[in-house]
Amino acid sequence: MTRLLSVVIHDVAPANWAACQRLLQAVAEVADIPTTLLVVPRFHLHARQVAFENQLSHLLSSGHELALHGYTHLDPGEPRDWIDHIKRRLYTDGEGEFSALSTSEAELRLRAGSRWFEQRGWPLHGFVAPAWLLSPGSWEVLHASTLRYTTTLSAVHALPQRQHLRSSALVFSTRSRWRRVVSEPRNHWVSLWWRTQPLVRFELHPHDADHPRIRRLWMRKLAALLHERRAITLADAVDEWWPPQPGPAVCQGGKPDWLDTTIDFTRTSHADRASQMVQR
Ligand SMILES: [Zn+2]
Repeated sequence: MTRLLSVVIHDVAPANWAACQRLLQAVAEVADIPTTLLVVPRFHLHARQVAFENQLSHLLSSGHELALHGYTHLDPGEPRDWIDHIKRRLYTDGEGEFSALSTSEAELRLRAGSRWFEQRGWPLHGFVAPAWLLSPGSWEVLHASTLRYTTTLSAVHALPQRQHLRSSALVFSTRSRWRRVVSEPRNHWVSLWWRTQPLVRFELHPHDADHPRIRRLWMRKLAALLHERRAITLADAVDEWWPPQPGPAVCQGGKPDWLDTTIDFTRTSHADRASQMVQR
């Protein structure tokens, strides 16, 4: 099988759009390749921007993929203990939105996100949780959905098949100096496994093009890997391993059949949160 790589851009939202464009430009300087853009419908509860959404539509029509990346990118709960505190406050900076959600809370947010994609006419194939943190309830909702894939730090998961493909992720953390220092040895360790893996992921965050050393590092690695691997979106990579079965189309731009648009968010126990979240 062909050896592949996917460039995945996180936290795509109006507040990060200028940085994301610098990132896309840096990727384009290496090669003209398709990427998967992880879009957050209401990033930090900010308002929508039509011009931003129009540019995403243009990227979609140019061969890039848009995938759902949470709904607000904010963890709504409180840590249970100090270990939970490290995971949810220090590691993720309070942004692991799906890290501790119940089934009903996860379903509410996934439905809102899917509906947001549907309203814009964007096909939705995959969901990637902020910081890849998924509670048991979130997994349950994903498996009950018609989404085709999700990813974790170490694998791509085909949801209908309940199978996964080990796939290492190169991640640069530029949020602080200590994170930048730690990311380099980790990525070196990850690169030791690359040769055995059919799919390698470059998981980039908005400011990864703004730190000259980090930018040079990942651009050089990407250029080297493109000599031996073909770039592909995550959705197309999933198709390579788990070809779509004939049957009712659920993700090709139409409404997923589990998406009940008649749901009345104002009647749920999450009314306050939902009224903030749901796109009008
Ligand atoms: Zn994120």
